[in-house]
Amino acid sequence: MDDRILAMCELSNDLLFQKIPPERMGYYVDGALEAGRTAAAQFRGTDIRSLYQSGGIRIYRGGTGKKGYGVVLRGQATMSPEGCSVELYPDSIEELARHSGWEGRRLTGEEATEVHLAHEFFHIWEYQQHKSIVEELEGVVSFSLLGLKRHSHINRCGEIAAHAFAKELLSLPCLPNLYDYLYLIDTGKMARGDFEELCSRMERLLLGEDARYAVEGGAK
Ligand SMILES: [Zn+2]
Repeated sequence: MDDRILAMCELSNDLLFQKIPPERMGYYVDGALEAGRTAAAQFRGTDIRSLYQSGGIRIYRGGTGKKGYGVVLRGQATMSPEGCSVELYPDSIEELARHSGWEGRRLTGEEATEVHLAHEFFHIWEYQQHKSIVEELEGVVSFSLLGLKRHSHINRCGEIAAHAFAKELLSLPCLPNLYDYLYLIDTGKMARGDFEELCSRMERLLLGEDARYAVEGGAK
């Protein structure tokens, strides 16, 4: 499945999604995907657990995964100047793996763990490098009144970048947020048709932008 469409699905979860002008969707999606891929390029071929070891990042095994807002947590990263760590919830990760079937194959528990570790590693890496793709990308106008404008960053771009990082580092066939959707569909929490509808809506948004590019490109 196309990375840009899955990235758009993630972007659509941003609280400020409606504030993004349609022609700017590609800017956020492509910028975030690129940031994740570029970061992964320097670690390619290195085992994710070795990256944790050499980065001094501890991995804890937590409980069953707390449920909040109907979302099952698979793990949580803690970042502080004193050190960084990731707490994993093996039961939730196993459950995700069990419901991750796609094109005749599903993740093993260990693979699902690695996906999660790679995702969190990106956030920790950004923290340690004092980098933030969310802040590097331009903000949107989130509030405007009488010439007064407030600009805000699009936080979900950090998630898109972390998905792209995990995909690249682990050579996954798709952006790993697809597994979250597969889980929701397989456990009856989301209708497959609704996911397909979401994907085509996201594609249309992106294509609208592409069409405008084409017009501009043709005019030069
Ligand atoms: Zn994340």
